[in-house]
Amino acid sequence: MLRTMLQAAARSDRLERMVGRNRLLRPAVDRFVAGATADDVIRAARRLADEGRYATIDQLGEACRDARAAEETARQYVALLGKVADAGLADHVEVSVKLSALGSELDWGVAEEQTRLICAAAEEAGTTVTVDMEDSSTTDDTLRVLRALREDYPRTGGVLQAMLHRTEGDCRAFAEPGSRIRLCKGAYHEPAAVARTNGADVNDAYLRCLGVLMEGGAYPMVATHDPRLVAGAAALARKHGLGRDDWEFQMLFGVRTDEQRRLANAGHRVRVYLPYGPDWYRYTCRRLAERPANLVLLGRAMLSR
Ligand code: FAD
Repeated sequence: MLRTMLQAAARSDRLERMVGRNRLLRPAVDRFVAGATADDVIRAARRLADEGRYATIDQLGEACRDARAAEETARQYVALLGKVADAGLADHVEVSVKLSALGSELDWGVAEEQTRLICAAAEEAGTTVTVDMEDSSTTDDTLRVLRALREDYPRTGGVLQAMLHRTEGDCRAFAEPGSRIRLCKGAYHEPAAVARTNGADVNDAYLRCLGVLMEGGAYPMVATHDPRLVAGAAALARKHGLGRDDWEFQMLFGVRTDEQRRLANAGHRVRVYLPYGPDWYRYTCRRLAERPANLVLLGRAMLSR
């Protein structure tokens, strides 16, 4: 119930105007968001690299319905990639993009064109782009854009969500050598017609999907904090004879940081999803919805100020 309310809050423009502008959620923002500017996030990425962790940087901001705003977002990503290269971090840092922030709600062609500019800048910088997945109404179009981008930039990553009934089939379609696929449970509230609603079913599906990706020779990016899936992924990697360079774990900035360090120290590649920017409201609500217990921690932090 609380989870559904927080997911609804993440979609509410009105609440964003009310809450997003004041400092009420500041403790949660500080935990989940790596700063407001490109320089802040580069500093955070460097700290991770110094500790042997990798990063994928996400510039926060969703659902732009204006071509100029989409161009501005792409321009900021291109500038960020220049900073990644200048900082000598291209072997540790890539970027993640949301097609809705690049104009998909206006026109999928606009989003593809803007993402293509970011892919070109990433290639020049010596790194890669991963295209995030949004709600299930966008899956087909997002995968179509991903395929088109891969014709010119084959290392472009995509995301598949284990909770969706369709995903095992999508994994089969994308399970080929060199195919960078982030597998996650799925962060959006989806109807039972398209998605599993039972946690155990989602976990079973996750491991089946991961097996398909590993068997096909893809490069799976195992995006989860779930201890059962972390252990299951390591066991599957052993079963398929995968080494450190054949797959990676991904976790969110501010979530299970000790586990990130433990996995990196054990020799796994661990990439941290590192969001930054002033448009933190929706992202932070989604993180709170994933674990409503975070609200208790938030309440304590607010009271102690
Ligand atoms: P859960 O069962 O939710 O969590 C397992 C345990 O992890 C919890 O018990 C708790 O200890 C810890 N945990 C999980 N989340 C939190 C949190 N927010 N705060 C504190 N502790 C927490 N979803 C998409 O739909 N599209 C994407 O493109 C996408 N990209 C992602 C990229 C990365 C790198 C990651 C890690 C996740 C991404 N997600 C994306 C979100 C994902 O779909 C899940 O919603 C999210 O990861 C929570 O699922 P979980 O597998 O961690 O398992």
